[in-house]
Amino acid sequence: MLDAVQVLKEKMVLACNVLQKQRVLDGYGHLSARLPGDRILSTPHMPPGKVALRDIIVIDMQGKKLEGAGEPNGETPMHTSIYKARPDVQCILHYHPDEIVAVSVASQGIKAVANCGVHFYRGTPIYDSPLLIRNHERGDKVAATLGDRNAVLLRGHGGTVVANDLDKLLRLGIDLVRVARIQIMTASLGPAKTHTQAECEEMVKGHDRPNTNRRYIDYYVSEVVD
Ligand SMILES: [Zn+2]
Repeated sequence: MLDAVQVLKEKMVLACNVLQKQRVLDGYGHLSARLPGDRILSTPHMPPGKVALRDIIVIDMQGKKLEGAGEPNGETPMHTSIYKARPDVQCILHYHPDEIVAVSVASQGIKAVANCGVHFYRGTPIYDSPLLIRNHERGDKVAATLGDRNAVLLRGHGGTVVANDLDKLLRLGIDLVRVARIQIMTASLGPAKTHTQAECEEMVKGHDRPNTNRRYIDYYVSEVVD
């Protein structure tokens, strides 16, 4: 029988490869996934787009390493605080794409100016500090700012997306950058007409169908797998 933890690790590495190929990662950032028994799989203290299967570490809910050769990331408290506050969250991506940093300082958050932005129609709150999330106090504040949404922006720093599975996380991670880019493009064209709440709700309903992310994920995976 396939080891479920091993399969999850492989999916994490694939997700990192996709995000690297799409140029939304830099030398920093991290991806994690919840395991049963208050344990968390995490990319270690290294560029997330460069991780291999052997690099994934296991940490506990206090951020202490339990297994693996590498060390936990400095911003691990952001992950542990969100997992504690949100039992529904199964995986977390934190990254620093230029487009998200740009929107994070404009005080407006992400607008649903394109179909790729409808996931975020309930708002992307902004954590109002550029300081790194290196302790539990700041981690708890980020988790409180995120609330029950699926993304939080960190002013002048980056963004964090959460999901209940890795396919969804990958989609949110890519689409948050895409809609931020489109929002920046539309800014020079005068007032933008955003999707209405009713339009977003209608479209998000369609996302709940089984296998709805399959074509989307297959496309991006095909870009990194021969
Ligand atoms: Zn960061």
